[in-house]
Amino acid sequence: MKDVLIIGGGFAGVWSAAGVVRAAREAGSAGDELRVTLVSGGDDMVIRPRLYENAPEGMRVALDRVLGPIGVRRISATVTGIDTEAHTARAVGRDGEQLDLAYDKLVLATGSQLVRPDFPGSQDVFDVDSLSAAAALDHHLRRLADRDPCLGQYTAVVVGAGFTGLELATALGERLRAIADGKGTADDVRVVLVDRADVVGPELGPGPRPTIDDALDELKIERRLGRTVAAATRRDVTLSDGEVIPAATVVWTAGMAASPLTAQIPGERDRLGRLNVDEHLRVIGVPDVYAAGDTALASVEDGYSTTQSCQHALPMGKFAGHNVAADLFGNVPLPFTPDPYVTCLDLGASGAVYTEGWDRRIALTGPEAKALKQNINAVWIYPPTDDAEELLAQAGRFSNG
Ligand SMILES: Cc1cc2nc3c(=O)[nH]c(=O)nc-3n(C[C@H](O)[C@H](O)[C@H](O)COP(=O)(O)OP(=O)(O)OC[C@H]3O[C@@H](n4cnc5c(N)ncnc54)[C@H](O)[C@@H]3O)c2cc1C
Repeated sequence: MKDVLIIGGGFAGVWSAAGVVRAAREAGSAGDELRVTLVSGGDDMVIRPRLYENAPEGMRVALDRVLGPIGVRRISATVTGIDTEAHTARAVGRDGEQLDLAYDKLVLATGSQLVRPDFPGSQDVFDVDSLSAAAALDHHLRRLADRDPCLGQYTAVVVGAGFTGLELATALGERLRAIADGKGTADDVRVVLVDRADVVGPELGPGPRPTIDDALDELKIERRLGRTVAAATRRDVTLSDGEVIPAATVVWTAGMAASPLTAQIPGERDRLGRLNVDEHLRVIGVPDVYAAGDTALASVEDGYSTTQSCQHALPMGKFAGHNVAADLFGNVPLPFTPDPYVTCLDLGASGAVYTEGWDRRIALTGPEAKALKQNINAVWIYPPTDDAEELLAQAGRFSNG
């Protein structure tokens, strides 16, 4: 019996599991010589790209409805240590019990996390990085209308004008207005976007920027660029240039790092902590260990590298799963070749902007791009549930083209 251990129940982990099962079946495995186990801290696959939206607590899929039909064993536990020499992982289960999990092949797919800020008052700053954090923000917003009226009651300051900050800021106006409307105070809504850089979407490049700026103007989102936050209280936020903005809501979106478990695997890492993997998604120099999704740095077309995105995590999972089974059953491993790079940024009531290529040439804007974004968010990124055949068929589809 060979043990494949997948750590992480996000996009990369789920598709790794489906990929291993599919490729093992393709290689003629009857299943009794292989055990695939997925360990994840929670019972659900969290649809992280949707956590900026309204009602985030629903943005999840029960892992058992995805993995159960394909016979993947699931353990709810938090992995605390990995010993790559001994081929074991140590975890703490729901009831605090210690678990020692042995593996023949390991896939590390524990994703990434926001780097929380550290300034006076930063403990009260919200984020949308995890389901619980996004739900806490949503709960806070819904209760704003119950407060005694005060300055900044319906002001939200979003820190970080990158992908997540832009999607959140452009959604928040509408969300806040719906809440304030009940008290007839919708006009008090104010959204302010803060970034250290002198432009919005610094890493998105100049291609989509005019469209983004137009959307921010249309939605009356204020910008404070070339600045950051120096301090916050539950009533206001002080920027690095001394400006004080009365605001009941401050949300931090800037800075991501790979899961801290990456530090337990020997090997080279980039500045985000991602493990360098080869074309087959094996961690370079570490036998029997693969990494996929936000924990891994892989090469893609034209000398570019993967981004911490669903767009890369999902196919990385499929390729890693396939290659683990190839290792075990002697199939041909597949070099990681994702579809050409695209981005689709939600701009709230202003639509969306869809770009193609690493230089982010605009291909769609407005309602067309918005319809595409809604399709991505509500359909494409969800794995099939209660349907082994469809899940395995999709696991074998390595390109959307
Ligand atoms: C608000 C927001 C908006 C985003 N928008 C987009 C977008 O528009 N497009 C896009 O492509 N990407 C977007 N992303 C990024 C995208 O969500 C991530 O790149 C993607 O989720 C990475 O998938 P993953 O499987 O590597 O990790 P994750 O989805 O983070 O999954 C990691 C899994 O590992 C588990 N885990 C972590 N640590 C442990 C442990 N110690 N033990 C056991 N289990 C553990 C977690 O519980 C989770 O199940 C967005 C992210 C956020 C937060």
